[in-house]
Amino acid sequence: MALSGRHGPSSALASTPHDAELRAAARHLARRRFLTVTAAAAALAFTTNLPARGAFAAPRLDPARITEDPFTLGVASGDPLPGSVLIWTRLAPAPFEPDGGLGQQQVEVSWEVALDEFFVLVVRRGTVVAHPEYAHSVRVDVTGLEPGSHYYYRFRTGTWISPSGRTRTAPPADDDTAGLTLAAVACQAYHDGYYTAHGHLAREDVDVVFHLGDYLYEYAVDSAGGARNYTDVVLPAVFNRETTTLADYRMRYSLYKSDPDLRAVHAAHPFVVTWDDHETENNYAAAVDENGSDPAQFLARRAAAYRAYWENQPLRADQLPEGPDAQLFRRLRWGTLAQFDILDTRQYRDDQAYNDTPHVPGPESDDPARTLTGDAQERWLLDGWGASTALWNVMPQQVCFSQRRMDLGAEARMSMDAWDGYRANRGRLMAGAKAAGVANWLVLTGDVHVAYAFDIKDDFDDPDSRTLGTELTCTSVASGRNGAEHPANWDTYMRANPHLRFYDGRRGYVRVELNREHARADFRTVPAVTTPGAPVSTAASFVTEVGSPGLKPV
Ligand code: FE
Ligand code: CA
Repeated sequence: MALSGRHGPSSALASTPHDAELRAAARHLARRRFLTVTAAAAALAFTTNLPARGAFAAPRLDPARITEDPFTLGVASGDPLPGSVLIWTRLAPAPFEPDGGLGQQQVEVSWEVALDEFFVLVVRRGTVVAHPEYAHSVRVDVTGLEPGSHYYYRFRTGTWISPSGRTRTAPPADDDTAGLTLAAVACQAYHDGYYTAHGHLAREDVDVVFHLGDYLYEYAVDSAGGARNYTDVVLPAVFNRETTTLADYRMRYSLYKSDPDLRAVHAAHPFVVTWDDHETENNYAAAVDENGSDPAQFLARRAAAYRAYWENQPLRADQLPEGPDAQLFRRLRWGTLAQFDILDTRQYRDDQAYNDTPHVPGPESDDPARTLTGDAQERWLLDGWGASTALWNVMPQQVCFSQRRMDLGAEARMSMDAWDGYRANRGRLMAGAKAAGVANWLVLTGDVHVAYAFDIKDDFDDPDSRTLGTELTCTSVASGRNGAEHPANWDTYMRANPHLRFYDGRRGYVRVELNREHARADFRTVPAVTTPGAPVSTAASFVTEVGSPGLKPV
């Protein structure tokens, strides 16, 4: 049987004490933020609208009564382990209706995993129930698989069969595996353009894709799909407002997954996902939103956003949010070749310094008590590096890690939303990486809608200081519309930051080949996203050699 006890959705979901957790969270928040009783009560009333499994006595729907294809949102897989991988789908015969067209009914779904794309050699199969409480999403932690192997998977309900996906497991933990090719993507504002980059990435030979956040944006999408400028489709008015409720966020995932290139890239490769801000709200920090709303109200919104994220991503039950809290930072391994420490730099951070405006670092941003990771995640990361035996220590995360001066001269402004706004926390991590002997350190970054390659310097203000590692920023899939190879600030940034080795303002992704000798990064870019069908090309390639940190142009 393929469902493990610990990770199996039913056991984990049934035992989730939502209400107790929510009450505890609200109490904690009320103390910390000196809230009125009224505000906390209002938040509770809101958040308890997130139903636990079994909250409804949902009748079972006869699949024969599903008259439209329920697999409109595609399939996905994620978080490969040596013997297992998580497979996902979500039923929605009417994806632009709030309940996906299925009402408050359970649906039985069968699944199968095969060695071949024709499903002749099926190695695992089973049946699960799609619950209305989880937006009819389906996830199976398929265990008992061979490490380091490729598989095909699909789902079925009634006579409807889903598209098939291709996925793989990780190599055995002690395997001296020779190589791995990954891609990093981020920032796919639907209203800014087509997912042409995803279409190209679907056809690349990569083992795993890291999504570094801004999978969706909360902003209104007009009837023409914004910059997509549809002439043959009219999007419903329900998308033309900012997402705030669980129904809004669920619907927004349906809109995004209606894009065929996004479905294709999920079907082609396993994903390892982490969120940034826009899956919830622009530049939020823990319980603080960008408009200074009542934190209890915002936590209610965050709970809805986190819940919809989990429902729509190939994540295990370990990542199921409890109210406004979710365990998203986690560790994966690829034999002895790589350890991946996947961070969450939104949920635990202190509010941005200097009102989150570009600012010269000062006492407010440099306060050593401030944190981007939160204490628990910082400790977990440092401990993980200390225990790591991997050749490469890879840190997929959200915001720019390396220093980024926005102006020439000593008094340069920096982004208070990025690690530059939390320099004490960054300094502790850099000291920890050195103390742990992390020799081959690779940081993967999203958020900024441009591609960068940085040498991570021991002292960013001293170009002659030691290089500790490499940071690759993957640009955006769509956000920022077409962009330009050299944005207006290109010359300033390149001159102000000698450790910035590459800067390209177009859309795309970065592909990274890791092996026992080097990491090779290829920055893949498309010239336009506001019209479909642009070609992809490699804007630049760099190599970092094992034991010799720093980027070398290829
Ligand atoms: Fe973004
Ligand atoms: Ca962002």
